[in-house]
Amino acid sequence: MDTDLLDVVIAGGGPGGLNAALVLGRSLKKVMVIDEAHPRNEVTIKSHGFLTRDGISPTALRQIAHEELKTYKSVTVVKDVVEDVERHNGFFITKTKNGKIVKSQKMIFATGMKDHLPAIPGLDLVYGKTVFHCPYCDGWERKNEPLALFGSGAALLPFVKLIFNWSKDLIVFTNGPAHIGTEEKQQLDQHGIQLVETPVSGLQSTDGKLEKVLLETGETFNRTGGFLASTGERQGSAIPARLGVPVNDRNEYETGSHGQTNINGLFIIGDAKNTFTSLIGAASQGYEAAVKINGDFAAENWDKGLT
Ligand SMILES: Cc1cc2nc3c(=O)[nH]c(=O)nc-3n(C[C@H](O)[C@H](O)[C@H](O)COP(=O)(O)OP(=O)(O)OC[C@H]3O[C@@H](n4cnc5c(N)ncnc54)[C@H](O)[C@@H]3O)c2cc1C
Repeated sequence: MDTDLLDVVIAGGGPGGLNAALVLGRSLKKVMVIDEAHPRNEVTIKSHGFLTRDGISPTALRQIAHEELKTYKSVTVVKDVVEDVERHNGFFITKTKNGKIVKSQKMIFATGMKDHLPAIPGLDLVYGKTVFHCPYCDGWERKNEPLALFGSGAALLPFVKLIFNWSKDLIVFTNGPAHIGTEEKQQLDQHGIQLVETPVSGLQSTDGKLEKVLLETGETFNRTGGFLASTGERQGSAIPARLGVPVNDRNEYETGSHGQTNINGLFIIGDAKNTFTSLIGAASQGYEAAVKINGDFAAENWDKGLT
């Protein structure tokens, strides 16, 4: 085991984990970020909606963050995977894939979500390029384009209403029964939106640019982009659940204010607690958790007479 006692170990080095590390480093805390380095948005080329960083690539965002963290010598960022965490005498013992064992007083999970896309042949080639989930991230680039919407069930109509803000030229592909009521189907029709329940056999594209949606019947529809109502997201790490953190019906970890969980000293931030937080939202949660953690340390150390 690395003998030094760390103040905080952060699992996951996306915008959530890295911003927490920045604020904790500035608070003179000894921090290790352990990051597998597969962010949820790694499939995309440009990220949007983060003031001063609009249009930046996911890789560039991380490179800038890593550079900035170099100022704070008490912060280290290692590329590795957190495989297990145990509680021992109130400390967190973190074990990694590369055999590292580290001990810390507190811990943040910023391990995000992983997407499990619908099984549509060719979707992997366009997802993150011209087909997306989040209209705030990528809707502006697709405004007024002929778009395909993929989804079904109760979540479908609210999602269609949202995307209608960016383009009125929509065709909904439910890839089987739509599982929506007659009234909802009428609403789509009244808004000039075609509903296609025939199973989709694949997507035709060139260099990530969607061209056609192909149906099992042989019918084809020309579309240049699209959105998925759901990306089948699952937690990036099951370790907090193993430690006893509850998960809600959206598969998010339940936390209190500032990401504090039911386990003393364990915080969860970013997509792991809010499915699709956004880059700036995750960074903001990292800031908040770090402020709370540093405040807790200050109070604990004061009480111990260790100021
Ligand atoms: C296609 C796509 C496009 C997007 N575009 C935008 C956009 O334009 N603007 C925007 O604001 N948001 C966008 N998002 C959403 C954004 O990516 C997320 O909301 C954001 O990345 C959440 O940050 P996070 O820090 O919680 O998690 P992430 O950024 O996903 O980082 C989590 C990190 O934890 C690591 N990790 C997981 N498990 C472990 C483990 N056991 N040990 C060590 N490390 C681990 C992962 O490898 C990853 O590096 C997009 C998402 C997708 C899927």
